[in-house]
Amino acid sequence: MRNFSYARPGTIDEAYHVAERTRFLAGGTNLIDLMKSDVERPAHVIDLKSLGMNRIEEQPGGGLRLGALATNADTAMHPLVTERHPLLASAILAGASAQIRNVATNGGNLNQRTRCHYFYDPDMPCNKRAPGVGCAARGGRNRIMAVLGTSDACIATFPSDMCIALAALHATVNLHGPEGARSVPVRDYHCLPGKTPWIENVLQSGEIVTSIDLPAISFEGHYTYLKIRDRLSFAFAIVSVAVGLEMESDGTIRCGHVALGGVGTKPWCVPEAEALMKHRPPSHSLFRDVAERIMEGAVMDRDNAAKLKLAPRVIERALWQAAEGTPQSQTCKIIR
Ligand code: SF4
Repeated sequence: MRNFSYARPGTIDEAYHVAERTRFLAGGTNLIDLMKSDVERPAHVIDLKSLGMNRIEEQPGGGLRLGALATNADTAMHPLVTERHPLLASAILAGASAQIRNVATNGGNLNQRTRCHYFYDPDMPCNKRAPGVGCAARGGRNRIMAVLGTSDACIATFPSDMCIALAALHATVNLHGPEGARSVPVRDYHCLPGKTPWIENVLQSGEIVTSIDLPAISFEGHYTYLKIRDRLSFAFAIVSVAVGLEMESDGTIRCGHVALGGVGTKPWCVPEAEALMKHRPPSHSLFRDVAERIMEGAVMDRDNAAKLKLAPRVIERALWQAAEGTPQSQTCKIIR
């Protein structure tokens, strides 16, 4: 048992806390697990749940603002989200279990930490948990680890489903902290591990995620979230792909949006690959080129070579599903 102070501020101005070893608590589905595993050892826990920030609201121009403390379940089931951003609803419902989605929040989903087995085991070397001690996953049991964006220091996969859809949708993360408010495109929010794998996002000390903005963008049925996992009931992605295609009336692609999960150290987007689709009709050669471009630079370790073969097939499949307007059923995992 490790002691920590606990506070539940009533306003956001009271919530800023820049003391060492402070952790913000929202749904607690990740932080509490990490504290039980003795991976997180906060000296201060600031519970944000009294701050409101749980609404889902229309924005001028047709966009949506998702409160950081809205639960994943309330977000996925909200009529404005299901009507305007079914891609996001589908990705959220593909993640975790109903019980977890009822508690987990949008801000917590953004800031959740990797599910690398070694990270959760304080007896194993892990640069993310203890800088400089090494990485047990490199050369270890690493079937679930990343193949894109890795470094010598860390190959941990970013685990979220929701964030993959947010990246495809070009969402923006709104932050508030001691220095004031600022906004960050979600594609720039998470950091590559490089030599500092313990720095996972651009949050500064004391900053809090207040909301997430979704632009007014409609794929009119040309979207899909395709997630491949070990078991359908409840598992993290081996590979997942979020696709949204803006189509012309003649069937050509005006603009394609793709993000990849389960294979990268952060939500993986390659704008050059997306640009290949501009003003082109869907075709096998185009979608193969897009998949190859997205996977450029992928590096396997001991056990995860299968991801190098599986990911391009999942990308192509997702692109066809989106082009044909047949969003992926979360109960059908057939990859042809
Ligand atoms: Fe730690 Fe990253 Fe290595 Fe996993 S992959 S053991 S999180 S440093």
